Amino acid sequence: MPLLVQKFGGTSVADSNKILAAARRAIRAHQNGNQVLVVVSARGHTTDELIELAKEITEKPPAREMDMLLSTGEQVSVALMAMAIQSLGVPAISFTGAQIGLVTDSFHTKARIRNISTERMAQALNEGKIVIVAGFQGVDEKYNITTLGRGGSDTTAVALAAVLGADACEIYTDVDGVYTTDPRVVPEARKIDRISYDEMLELASLGAGVMHSRSIEFAKKYGVPIHVRSSFSDAEGTWIVSEADAKRLGVTVTGAALAKDEARITLLGVPDRPGVVHAVFHKIAAANIVVDMIVQNVGTDGQTEVSFTVAASDLAETLIAAEAAAKAIGAKGVTHDAGVAKVSVVGLGMRTHTGVATIMFDALAHAGVNIEMITTSEIKISVLVARAAAAQALRVVHKAFALHEWDNASSLPFSPARAQTKIAHRAPQADDNGSMPQAPGMEDLVISGVELDESQARITLFNVPDRPGYAARVFRQIADAGVFVDMIVQNVSTAGNTHLSFTVPRESAERAREAVSNVGQGDVFIEPTLAKLSVLGVGMRTHTGVATRMFGALAAESINIALINTSEVRINVATNVEQGRQGEACLRRAFAVSEESKGA
Ligand code: ADP
Ligand code: ASP
Ligand code: MG
Repeated sequence: MPLLVQKFGGTSVADSNKILAAARRAIRAHQNGNQVLVVVSARGHTTDELIELAKEITEKPPAREMDMLLSTGEQVSVALMAMAIQSLGVPAISFTGAQIGLVTDSFHTKARIRNISTERMAQALNEGKIVIVAGFQGVDEKYNITTLGRGGSDTTAVALAAVLGADACEIYTDVDGVYTTDPRVVPEARKIDRISYDEMLELASLGAGVMHSRSIEFAKKYGVPIHVRSSFSDAEGTWIVSEADAKRLGVTVTGAALAKDEARITLLGVPDRPGVVHAVFHKIAAANIVVDMIVQNVGTDGQTEVSFTVAASDLAETLIAAEAAAKAIGAKGVTHDAGVAKVSVVGLGMRTHTGVATIMFDALAHAGVNIEMITTSEIKISVLVARAAAAQALRVVHKAFALHEWDNASSLPFSPARAQTKIAHRAPQADDNGSMPQAPGMEDLVISGVELDESQARITLFNVPDRPGYAARVFRQIADAGVFVDMIVQNVSTAGNTHLSFTVPRESAERAREAVSNVGQGDVFIEPTLAKLSVLGVGMRTHTGVATRMFGALAAESINIALINTSEVRINVATNVEQGRQGEACLRRAFAVSEESKGA
């Protein structure tokens, strides 16, 4: 019998009428011949209210007790939902996370799922009951209640769909699908009929709050098709599916996202030698803080600046770690900016198209928005801007890619089905802190490959003015010259000017140099050979220690890192070409990846 997982978010169970409506929906699916498992969130704003309540008692509530408190929200919902379904004449049973043996690690308030026992759920399903499970919560090995992080009910739902082999996971929410950007910020946003796991993973981790990004890691790893749709209508929503199923013709950018509350930390006067990046990020990863944009300015006089962003809520903790790291490596100091926001565009089509960056930078330049930092990956471009300019920046970028005219007609035909191929579980690896887990956890990092690309050159523009429009002019010239740009990195330096670096295929390096010399500012420098080393996997950014392990392995071999960029599916670094092979070998060892696995 087909098995369907249905997840109802906070607004979808906010009051008794909504709970009854959700119950009827589950019953309908049951009557249509499905086994049905329902995952529910806390009602309405319950979780926010519980957090406020805790703050009334103490500024710094202990994380363990916070989880004890927050988990109650979902427990209320499952009970009410079970009552609702039973009152409508269908057998149902509710379970907490602990009762279904949803075991997590012990990182309170951001725990990861290790293991789920399916027995009790399977038995109840086979008895014909609708099974209702509390989202967002689990227990650690010592039966302490844990929670998965804000928005974590999505992750519970997709994880249950994965272990039970469900045919699909439906996410019922207050929008009728995934839009080209948050429709609350940009009302012109359009609904996307289908989006690939990688695009959704990036969008979610770059700020699209409609899905918890870790849920997409599960979906991708286990091949679970997700259908995001409205609780309040029967309209077809958005399918989150494999790349093959999400294929679309002639589209470069699929969506844009805004992360409004970011903070930037800069380490000044960092000695430009192997190991310093590792020293910095090791400390931050140990505190389980997700670091996002990492930019190392090109060194001059043996010194460099390293900047990175974290969620503003992690700033205080990050500064403690960063200051300790600065001291340890002999950096001159640490500065930060708590008033920044990140605007990103994401699309599979970027892999093969030139000029995407230009469109984004042009739009920002025309709107007079200054770009304070740029990072890219194969399928995304992120820029950091002042928070006050963020919503406008998102709007103009959305428009520049004509996302307000999004047309689903370009999608190829498809019928949702559970993917046959799953990424095999690997043998356990040392965790982010270096210790070995007892057994592989469901949410453990999966590394699928290590790659070396020796075909690129790097171009750096030193001392370019820190004004709106500069990046736009540079990449307009590059695009007009038909040169494909891979990594782009820009960071505003403390001296009020900017260093802009990017990589291009070696054979286009000269053409690129000529093109940028037309812009006529700054000093152009070409490094004709470069090795790009990549570690590929799923959920690379949310697993805080991956970058650290990568930098650590390279540092141990005295390999200096010149450029860094990160995405959810890969971390790339550029090093000098002589050390490329050595770097590749040491990364294979560090991540226990064999010679044959050349990436996903
Ligand atoms: P739930 O409580 O059902 O989990 P959330 O509030 O977590 O609901 O997610 C739904 C919200 O996500 C929407 O109301 C919308 O404002 C926001 N959102 C952000 N980005 C997007 C996007 N790209 N598409 C749709 N909704 C988005
Ligand atoms: N109730 C939790 C939250 O508000 C989990 C969720 O809704 O997904 O973050
Ligand atoms: Mg949510």
